[in-house]
Amino acid sequence: MGTAPPFDARWAWFLDIDGTLLDIAAIPSAVKTGPSDTRLVTGLYSECRGALALISGRSIEGIDKLFYPLRLPAAGQHGIERRDAKGRVRRHPFPEDAMRRAAEEIRAFVERHEGLLFEDKGASLAVHYRLAPQYGAAAHAILHKAAQHLGEGVEVQGGKMVVELKPSGQDKGLAIQEFMKEPPFRGRVPVFLGDDLTDEDGFHVVNRLGGHSVKIGSGVTSARWRLRDAAAVRRWLSEALYGSTKDPSPGGRTPSPSPSRP
Ligand SMILES: [Mg+2]
Repeated sequence: MGTAPPFDARWAWFLDIDGTLLDIAAIPSAVKTGPSDTRLVTGLYSECRGALALISGRSIEGIDKLFYPLRLPAAGQHGIERRDAKGRVRRHPFPEDAMRRAAEEIRAFVERHEGLLFEDKGASLAVHYRLAPQYGAAAHAILHKAAQHLGEGVEVQGGKMVVELKPSGQDKGLAIQEFMKEPPFRGRVPVFLGDDLTDEDGFHVVNRLGGHSVKIGSGVTSARWRLRDAAAVRRWLSEALYGSTKDPSPGGRTPSPSPSRP
């Protein structure tokens, strides 16, 4: 399974992280980047003259920890926070007090159910149930209940073995749209790679902008291209950069200015 568009140096890259660039682990904190991952992202970033942004459900703080010492343009918490190419961070307003109260309720629920993992990202709250899938339905139910309590302004976002409560009105697609209005993204062709439900907003936007949407893995999608898994993504990006599927050793080949086609 897998076809992807032929490379073009005029692309602007938008990359989801978990399940797209990096393999999913049992818990989000177990996901790590290796030197080849940061080298790949750095290489791509300079190849497209800085028109690259990470678009994740993680917080920007979490993204920075994962890719340390890199601090790339990024949209965190599904677009609620965004760091532009100049390094300026903008957070969309959200009902902070109400989210704090919901956080306490959800934390208490998670503590009563072994294997569930609570993640408080500030503006959004996640319950991961990869280690306790039997509680998945209950986790969805408790977040829907919390969303009902809070009323307008929040929504529930499902994902792979995770359910989240987040402010409504912002999503990954809008974040990509915002990047595309600014240099160095403006005027380029957007390409978005993602693997999960929340990435569909991004696929819609790049389809509308005449860009390339690439779904990672199986499942119904509005993306126009597909790659099998994160390993296939890394191979494909390596080809874009180095013209071969081999990860170059430091001091090996320098990135080719005109990437070869897959
Ligand atoms: Mg993902």
